[in-house]
Amino acid sequence: MRLSLAHEGVARQWFGESGPLALLPLVEPDLVAVVWSSFDDLSKLPPSAFLGRLEEASEGATAGATLASDRFAFPLMQQQSLQYVTEGVALLGDAAHAIHPLAGQGANLGFADARCLVTELAGARIEGHVPGDLGVLKRYERARKPHNYMAALAMEGFHRAFTSGMPLVGLARNLGLQFVQENKTLKQLAISVASGRL
Ligand SMILES: Cc1cc2nc3c(=O)[nH]c(=O)nc-3n(C[C@H](O)[C@H](O)[C@H](O)COP(=O)(O)OP(=O)(O)OC[C@H]3O[C@@H](n4cnc5c(N)ncnc54)[C@H](O)[C@@H]3O)c2cc1C
Repeated sequence: MRLSLAHEGVARQWFGESGPLALLPLVEPDLVAVVWSSFDDLSKLPPSAFLGRLEEASEGATAGATLASDRFAFPLMQQQSLQYVTEGVALLGDAAHAIHPLAGQGANLGFADARCLVTELAGARIEGHVPGDLGVLKRYERARKPHNYMAALAMEGFHRAFTSGMPLVGLARNLGLQFVQENKTLKQLAISVASGRL
């Protein structure tokens, strides 16, 4: 859903008890997209109650904001295709793998699939193979599947770490994040992985 709120081009995210909440800046300077992965169906709350919950979850960042669209809720599913290709056919993006949106990685993985497939098809053409040959397409599958599985595993780990009520898990999560934040090399590595450059 969209919310009328000035954003100055900054995306913000909270990992609270009500589930990961993100305010994502849209092209319009005073409109943000709200993505809230919650165990409760917040779309059924009356608008004023919903805005109250939102203000609480965003630590006051949405104070004074108003709804700019309808709210929609749907179940999130983690799905991995066991097979990406068959003769003449290749699955890419969410058709091959759908992950939790908490880190905004789904589209990046799809773009990386597309880049890999194009590289393999171009290579096949130079080598004189038919692009739709199973052997050619399998190269794409072999290159992308492990990466996409790892990404899904990482998102599942993040999700569990942020929704666990166990104090020790919370402590380990916070210490881990702080360690990455303070270590330039690890932080750069995390950024490269998240942006699909590695
Ligand atoms: C709430 C939420 C927030 C997200 N936030 C982010 C984010 O911040 N960053 C990010 O990188 N990713 C995010 N994602 C994930 C991202 O949206 C998806 O990974 C991405 O859209 C997948 O792209 P796709 O082209 O593979 O599939 P889709 O975007 O699903 O596109 C498939 C298209 O095919 C069409 N279609 C389906 N069936 C047929 C048919 N039979 N005939 C013709 N057309 C058909 C559909 O209508 C659709 O337009 C988010 C996902 C969700 C659910």
